[in-house]
Amino acid sequence: MDFSYSAEQETLRREIIKFAKERLNTGVIARDHHQEFPRDLWLACGEMGLQGLPVPEALGGAGMDPLSCTIALEAFGYGCRDNGLVFSVCAHLLSCVVPMWRFGTPEQQARYLPRLCNGTLIGIHAMTEPGSGSDSFGLKTRAVRDGDGWRINGSKTFISNAPVADVIIVFALTDPAKGFHGGVTAFLMERDTPGLTASKKIEKMGMRTSPFGELAFDDVFVPDTAILGTLGGGSAIFTHAMDWERILLFAAHVGQMERLLDLGVQYARTRQQGGKAIGKYQAVSHKLADLKVNLEASRLLLYRSATKLDRTRAVSLDAAMTKLFVSESLVKGAMDVLQVFAGYGYSVEYEIEREVRDAIGSRIYSGTSDIQRNIIASWLRL
Ligand SMILES: Cc1cc2nc3c(=O)[nH]c(=O)nc-3n(C[C@H](O)[C@H](O)[C@H](O)COP(=O)(O)OP(=O)(O)OC[C@H]3O[C@@H](n4cnc5c(N)ncnc54)[C@H](O)[C@@H]3O)c2cc1C
Repeated sequence: MDFSYSAEQETLRREIIKFAKERLNTGVIARDHHQEFPRDLWLACGEMGLQGLPVPEALGGAGMDPLSCTIALEAFGYGCRDNGLVFSVCAHLLSCVVPMWRFGTPEQQARYLPRLCNGTLIGIHAMTEPGSGSDSFGLKTRAVRDGDGWRINGSKTFISNAPVADVIIVFALTDPAKGFHGGVTAFLMERDTPGLTASKKIEKMGMRTSPFGELAFDDVFVPDTAILGTLGGGSAIFTHAMDWERILLFAAHVGQMERLLDLGVQYARTRQQGGKAIGKYQAVSHKLADLKVNLEASRLLLYRSATKLDRTRAVSLDAAMTKLFVSESLVKGAMDVLQVFAGYGYSVEYEIEREVRDAIGSRIYSGTSDIQRNIIASWLRL
């Protein structure tokens, strides 16, 4: 497979890196410290087209194929040092905008997509509950038939962008006897729907500029027109969103890995100890050599998976392998670069400690590393 960039992809990559470096990187230490979501920068990303990359132009997006979207998000992750902002944009795009584009009715698409794509609206995807994370099949949020609509009760937690959300995709049980396959439905609702409350943000370890929080549904009424896709079709929507997210969100992490490699190499060439650059010590250079190998292997896996997204529905194995390998490589790479920077890496000023804190979550969201291994093992019929 030849993954060399076309002229358009080269320009796209260059422009996004330039945009991110010039517009998004000021004040990241303070934003992280105060857990501030930068709405102004979010809107700048919307103007750049990042929130609607694959969506057809007629619906407000940029109409890009999945591989070009991957290259764009990798450039975004490389250029932007605010990993929380990158994560918020990706979560919105991959778990709300993509399902809305793929499964929404023309009315739903017209109502939401143009404003989701330009960043005026913020969208979220609410599956995880206090009692069901990895076992998303075990959800308890219930939607019961009520006249010409549905009455929803339950709660969700750890939902990215929930404290700032305008549009919500929520998964609820509509037929407990059928369970996850046929018994779960995705519903759309807006922030001011009576009975819906979004809690304040939950403080977290990393990506602190990307808020997450809880949602509570107390007798929330939605009409039939709020169903996204079909009644009982929630698991297909969830799986589709996870396939996109486990590939394209991790494109941004490949960009972050390349940025870490650049920082590590530059530092190892210039920092002197014992009369020579620390990069001349194998203990240091081998860490960076391993990061280089993991970066290139991640990128190959990523690009190959991305080319399958619009060719086949059977992409879940590729998505799980990509997600697992990229996230584990990112965490190891971030830890190794911190070790190369040593005392300076541990200090906030050098921004490496934040990279480590930001990286850790990648092994948890979109399904933990253990769950990705379970998926891969099940494809091996184990
Ligand atoms: C930064 C961040 C953003 C998130 N954003 C969203 C969001 O936007 N929307 C949303 O719905 N959710 C979101 N989540 C939730 C995320 O999907 C869950 O945290 C994740 O699926 C794990 O669930 P849990 O935290 O309940 O852990 P648990 O499921 O309780 O797992 C605890 C431990 O047990 C292991 N484990 C559990 N079951 C198995 C098994 N069957 N086999 C092997 N090991 C197992 C896990 O790997 C883990 O190590 C987010 C989480 C984070 C950290």
